[in-house]
Amino acid sequence: MKRALFLDRDGVINVDHGYVHTVEAFQFVPGILETIRSFQERGYLPIVVTNQSGIGRGYYTREDFEAVTEHMLRQMRRAGIEITREQVFFCPHAPDEGCDCRKPAPGMLLEAIARFDIDPAASILIGDKASDIEAAEAAGIGRAILVEKDRPLDYAIL
Ligand SMILES: [Mg+2]
Ligand SMILES: [Zn+2]
Repeated sequence: MKRALFLDRDGVINVDHGYVHTVEAFQFVPGILETIRSFQERGYLPIVVTNQSGIGRGYYTREDFEAVTEHMLRQMRRAGIEITREQVFFCPHAPDEGCDCRKPAPGMLLEAIARFDIDPAASILIGDKASDIEAAEAAGIGRAILVEKDRPLDYAIL
């Protein structure tokens, strides 16, 4: 079994400008690429789990999301992180759709755990909202770290 580093996207990987859906608006939080790489060197598989209700609300399309994702992954690989599209899970639903994947529901985490044979208890999640932490707890993730949105991670807590 593998251990994973689960990462929320907006506010953790990129600055949360609100419904970020263009490459131009996608700005990495300082230090996050180094953090992901250092976890990867310690044997953690990076997995992105992101609520993208802007799709369900009609603010942008799945194609917009995929274009931003492609850009994000390219920059990550350029920084030495090994990651593919399969490691990105997203919920496209609006809150009133009542899906099982929108955090705080654990659907995306459970799907990733099954697909990659991940040991949840040995895994970590980093999020900037209570809903991220609730999802981690519901999925049995061993450690959930709540960080301040858009702020570089404090290495002392890692
Ligand atoms: Mg967030
Ligand atoms: Zn969903």
